[in-house]
Amino acid sequence: MQFYALNERRKLVGAPSAHRHQQYLCPSCLQPLLLRGGKWRKLHFYHPHPRTPCHSSKKSFRHLFFQQLLYKQLESQNVAMEHSFKEIGRIADFVWFDKKIIFEIQCSPISSEEISARNRDYRSVGFTVVWLLYDKRFNGKRVKPAEYYLFSLPHYFINQRGVIYDQYSQLMGGKRIDKSPPFLIHLPHPYCGGPKGLYFQGDLTDINYKPSKTTSLWKQLLKGFDRWLDALLRS
Ligand SMILES: [Zn+2]
Repeated sequence: MQFYALNERRKLVGAPSAHRHQQYLCPSCLQPLLLRGGKWRKLHFYHPHPRTPCHSSKKSFRHLFFQQLLYKQLESQNVAMEHSFKEIGRIADFVWFDKKIIFEIQCSPISSEEISARNRDYRSVGFTVVWLLYDKRFNGKRVKPAEYYLFSLPHYFINQRGVIYDQYSQLMGGKRIDKSPPFLIHLPHPYCGGPKGLYFQGDLTDINYKPSKTTSLWKQLLKGFDRWLDALLRS
């Protein structure tokens, strides 16, 4: 079931605010979508006559929901969902072309070999992958090999409501023995190309979190205060 579609101005609209007689397009394959449901079923969009099979219709509801939330946050940017990179034979979940970033949303188990292969392929066409790991599957007590592999590579966690966050874990014997508080990521504000690699406003690299120092927490609080003050002054 798809709950979002593009209207004639290519803006993302949710099914509850859509109209039955209007034209909508699938955000992934750009084929026409129709609205259905209402009295007995939740309102949603569907592909009436797909010319080519849509990649989105095979994905889990949660995966689509996360993709559409990313789209909502970045729709003013040059982005695409389910973009096909023919030269490497891969379809990326979500691409931000200007920043050369790919978001891969992972709700199911994955091996470290598969992550490494995708990172390498996308790197060969000039893109960096940011992995968004669903926290009902990852970030648990036992650390998965995929998580070990991603330890120093761009990755965040995403919760069931679609909130993307960074979190530092203290590891011992394959287990998480302690965690920092979660830090919310400001997705529209990446930092690219510096010596620290790719990171985002609000993440652990940005706030320079050190779990043993309480001062870094203060740093985070002060930074939040600065932003609040800044917003107040500009309003
Ligand atoms: Zn489609």
